[in-house]
Amino acid sequence: IKVLLAFGTRPEAIKLAPLYKELRNRTNNIQLVCCITGQHRELLLPFLDFFGIQADYDLNILKENQGLVHITSAVLGGMEKILSKEKPDMVIVQGDTSSAFAASLAAFYAKIPVGHVEAGLRSYDRFQPFPEEVNRVFISHMADLNFCPTQRAADNLIKEQVSLSSIFITGNTVIDALYFTLKRLHDRGEDKPDLENLSSGRVILVTAHRRESFGEGLRNLSLALRDLADTYDDVVVVYSVHPNPNVRQAVESILKGHDRIRVIPPPGYLSFVKLMKASYLIITDSGGIQEEAPSLNKPVLIARNVTERPEAVECGAARVVGTDRTQMVQEASKLLNDPAHYRFMTTVSNPFGDGHASERIADAIEAFFGVHLKDK
Ligand code: UDP
Repeated sequence: IKVLLAFGTRPEAIKLAPLYKELRNRTNNIQLVCCITGQHRELLLPFLDFFGIQADYDLNILKENQGLVHITSAVLGGMEKILSKEKPDMVIVQGDTSSAFAASLAAFYAKIPVGHVEAGLRSYDRFQPFPEEVNRVFISHMADLNFCPTQRAADNLIKEQVSLSSIFITGNTVIDALYFTLKRLHDRGEDKPDLENLSSGRVILVTAHRRESFGEGLRNLSLALRDLADTYDDVVVVYSVHPNPNVRQAVESILKGHDRIRVIPPPGYLSFVKLMKASYLIITDSGGIQEEAPSLNKPVLIARNVTERPEAVECGAARVVGTDRTQMVQEASKLLNDPAHYRFMTTVSNPFGDGHASERIADAIEAFFGVHLKDK
């Protein structure tokens, strides 16, 4: 079976890396082709290195201030050529980016089966996140195999009349990637974050870069972070800032220069996992971090108005706070001041999987094609 993985951003690389490794181990049955779209090129490449992923194709679509129409049309056109040359038996995409949507559309038009990793997430708000919510709905309806991280994600698809035989509950591959990375840290005896002088304070780790937060949202969030750093003299805020100028300028104009705030370029996965482990609490609009934090027993304040990962809230590890300055300060203060509340949010069990999602996905792919020979 020839399987083509197509992806373009950092979270897709992290979440497809465990599947890449798993499929690589099944050479008796599976021939793997890997295509990167380059949607977020500079953020993506270090992650390929870290996970040992070799790209066979690089569409290299990135252009300055790229819009969604450019990403979608460039990936669609690029994929058409690759698909007609490689003629894969299946195209695998992950998540909800415009790259994933366009790659599945190209495969669907070529009548090549699509496998969707992390299928069935829904916020039920077409504009939150934008354009991801609509991308993921479209992908579900093109996919032949839907790999759902949780029962709830599967239920969402069932409600939309997606064929039951296409749905598999596998867990989320991000937990496979996290466990792999934690083991690597353990084997190397590494634990301390790469940033210096963090151990003296309680670290609030921050990432936020969603399109819907550009402007007012990021401004309010940055002001809230400055309030927290001004109020608590044992707090160190570490903000990993996305290179998008809409994010960088807003964040740096408010936070740079404060003596308890570190504005840093986004670290690679190993360094970022070390930072998560060393943090006291995490403030983020990221999806992947909401999934990783419960495994690390870190509380998460979600800087968005809705989440398509309600499991993180229901298990107690996360709270949806939005980007209102006062509310963010209040919720963070509760965690900084109230040990019982902190304990409540950090003694949870992870609802997103057991670290074996990619094995289940590879099994389902083999079963789809009627080959079950797992001998390597
Ligand atoms: N991440 C990272 N370095 C950073 C920020 C995030 O390695 O500076 C990882 C994080 O652990 C998670 C993923 O990148 O696995 C999340 O990426 P992002 O927030 O861009 O996307 P989303 O999860 O919202 O799709």
